[in-house]
Amino acid sequence: MSNRRPLIAGNWKMNGLTKDGLALAGEIATRLNKVASPNCDVLVCPPMTLVAAIAQKAEGSKLSVGAQDCHMNETGAHTGDTSPVMIKDAGCEYVILGHSERRTDHKETNEVVKAKASAAIKAGLKAIICIGETEAERDANKTIDVCASQIKGSVPAESTAENTVIAYEPVWAIGTGRTPTTADVQEVHAEVRKALTEVIGAEAAKTRILYGGSVKPTNASEFMPLPDVDGALVGGASLKADDFWGIVDSCI
Ligand code: PEP
Repeated sequence: MSNRRPLIAGNWKMNGLTKDGLALAGEIATRLNKVASPNCDVLVCPPMTLVAAIAQKAEGSKLSVGAQDCHMNETGAHTGDTSPVMIKDAGCEYVILGHSERRTDHKETNEVVKAKASAAIKAGLKAIICIGETEAERDANKTIDVCASQIKGSVPAESTAENTVIAYEPVWAIGTGRTPTTADVQEVHAEVRKALTEVIGAEAAKTRILYGGSVKPTNASEFMPLPDVDGALVGGASLKADDFWGIVDSCI
């Protein structure tokens, strides 16, 4: 039995205006605060425009707040970017890095993700480093190799179980309603943990590895009990309080 504390993280992506975002985060915080001793950590990652307001609203509650990306520098001439120090200053505890949408839309490489993770850790944030294979890579039986090389390329040496979380998200499962089998998820998570051990040694056994990709209240209870699954990174289903809470409920 693992003693890793699960994390259920909501990635709102580019969704949410002030009124609805504050209401959604407030609803999750209220439900979470009614649970005397939750058995998992709960996190929302709103768009950058809302992180400060939501962090303020969540202050003193059991709900954590994170951002969806950060720059690798602390300050400077980087128009439109946000530094990890600023994200920490806005009240965030976590930052998602290397999401497949950023790897695709912004051509982020493993090296870039690693530099961002280093900077985030230095700023006192917890880095959620995302990895995962495309459908073509899965069809070519390259899932384990791709994930292992993303771990080795994206996780900095200074990562620990305390400052880093890994999210395994098969690209073909994100937003599609399709998921791998539970056996596939467990196999990949175990292999990811092995690759992580090569980077950070014994810390890997204590590091949380989340599953992400079409997690819903209806399937969360299949994935959450798997021995190497330590929570979920949730996209679409994190945008409705009842859906997100249904997933939290499978861990709590
Ligand atoms: C995600 O974008 O991180 C994600 C897992 O999305 P969805 O839950 O919608 O598949």
